Amino acid sequence: MNSFKCERCGAPLEVSPETIVAICPYCGYPNHISGNLKTEHIYIVPSLDKNAIAKAFWERVERDFDLKRIKDQLQIVDIEGHYSPYWKGSVHVEGEVEYTVREEECRTYTDSSGEEHTECHTVEKHYHDFVNEDIPLIGSARRQVKSFGVDDIIGHYSRSRPKGKRLLDLDEDQWGKIKLEILNTEIDELQAKMMMREDAIDVIRNRYSAKADRIDRFDIRAEMPESVSLVLLPMWTVYYKYGNSIYHVVFAGWDGKDVAATEPMTMLRRAQYIGAIGLGSLIGAFGAAYGGAVASGAVVIFALIFGSVLGGYGGFKVLEGQRVERGGSMSSVMSVFRR
Ligand SMILES: [Zn+2]
Repeated sequence: MNSFKCERCGAPLEVSPETIVAICPYCGYPNHISGNLKTEHIYIVPSLDKNAIAKAFWERVERDFDLKRIKDQLQIVDIEGHYSPYWKGSVHVEGEVEYTVREEECRTYTDSSGEEHTECHTVEKHYHDFVNEDIPLIGSARRQVKSFGVDDIIGHYSRSRPKGKRLLDLDEDQWGKIKLEILNTEIDELQAKMMMREDAIDVIRNRYSAKADRIDRFDIRAEMPESVSLVLLPMWTVYYKYGNSIYHVVFAGWDGKDVAATEPMTMLRRAQYIGAIGLGSLIGAFGAAYGGAVASGAVVIFALIFGSVLGGYGGFKVLEGQRVERGGSMSSVMSVFRR
């Protein structure tokens, strides 16, 4: 297997079937290795450099009300970037779905004495849909266990659609500019295609589960994925210190967008959450007393639940001591396939 040599200096390279790019241990040249992959279908999205990411970090601090006030106490301790591989493709799904939705139907009528009445009842409506569409999918080509920010990067990719370059088309000069480590794939093309097929069917199933009260028939077939390619996306993580803790922000490498972050909670926010605990207990106690007085079990239960949920939320947030920010919800057309 190990018959690869550095294109620039001829030194032997350590290469596995999943290697996309092997950095020469002698001269540092990034050698493009196809391994098991079809080279013409590998794309790379160019990245901003480390300085640009540091700049994006400080701009983010300026934008954030809480962080801005403590910015003098924030200190960047590390900035780490890499390229990670993702499989993308499109799956054609076709078939039929029959489902039932329960709806409230009301009619108003006037009786013999001239009084108006409204009568309502629940009716079951049956639907029969034909499905015939292409579903774009993208998912990590690595088996990482929910690495922080990965889903957020995918979500941002599907919204911003940055242009990639074919890896084959890069010249030596452009190769030299790619200073980031390129992580190997761990999921091969065949496995990725199987996952995409399953996930395409799940996309349809979830769509109907959301709107139907009952699915009576689900007969959807997925074809083999088309236009399958491997895309290398740059991701940066800025680690920073505040007090005795380290927090981090994940940036998309192509445009410097912050996609996910853990952040310190300032004293004011902490006070607000502690306030929530107090208020929660108060509502709980008050509600129990009030409910007891009027002998309404429902009020007691509602107040206890509401009070403890509110209190629990505040307590959880304070214990955590940080908040987690996400760059927004997933685009509806692209899906992340499961690992
Ligand atoms: Zn070399």
